[in-house]
Amino acid sequence: MKILVPVKRVIDYNVKPRVKLDGTGVDLANVKMSMNPFDEIAVEEAIRLKEKGVATEIVAVSIGVAKAQETLRTALAMGADRAILVQTDDEVEPLAVAKILKAIVDEEQPGLVILGKQAIDDDSNQTGQMLAALTGRPQGTFANKLEVEGDAATVTREVDGGLETVKLALPAIITTDLRLNEPRYASLPNIMKAKSKPLANKTPADYGVDTAARLQTLKVSEPPKRSAGVKVADVDELVAKLKSMGVAA
Ligand code: AMP
Repeated sequence: MKILVPVKRVIDYNVKPRVKLDGTGVDLANVKMSMNPFDEIAVEEAIRLKEKGVATEIVAVSIGVAKAQETLRTALAMGADRAILVQTDDEVEPLAVAKILKAIVDEEQPGLVILGKQAIDDDSNQTGQMLAALTGRPQGTFANKLEVEGDAATVTREVDGGLETVKLALPAIITTDLRLNEPRYASLPNIMKAKSKPLANKTPADYGVDTAARLQTLKVSEPPKRSAGVKVADVDELVAKLKSMGVAA
């Protein structure tokens, strides 16, 4: 079985984003970029399925600027077999990403597509669900456990108030949640090996997808600054303050 893993190049999760002075977006100049953390979890899960003998090939795909190649090389160094870069300088919204992925699914026919539950730059949490709708494949979102047996996948999902387990007929779409696994680091020999793994260069036009924006960002602003805290002398004063705020009985 082939597994397709879409990986997005995003601002590194350790970086504190700076909003552009004109409020049109986040300043990406000279900012460290990395693979979206939920996509690292997706790559790791695909590798584990390959190590168990369930998967035979892992194809990583990224839609974005030329430098998204680095993100794909990271996926290859972790253990993906080949990669597809769908290169564009446009900012590609989840619907256009899902349409491109649908075209790749039609071409590659993967048994599983494992995406992140959300990209930490736009926090859309839409692409996996849209891809499931466009392909008509069953979806197991927010996966915290994934088991594949025969032609079915059992997914334990993180839902409000607990866990839900669903069984999906393959081929299917999965999105990863934080506790699914802990991704491995690529070893130096594997980073070297990844340089010679195949990486195909494509464009959205190759898949007949128009990436023109359908959403207009009106304004991006910093979150309000937190006001300074107050030091209390002792527990009694703390309890009295909490009571006056209606927090403690
Ligand atoms: P989102 O719906 O934007 O929050 O993204 C959810 C998931 O879709 C991500 O974790 C990725 O697996 C995938 N994805 C979104 N945008 C891209 C992209 N430009 N290239 C590759 N994968 C993407």
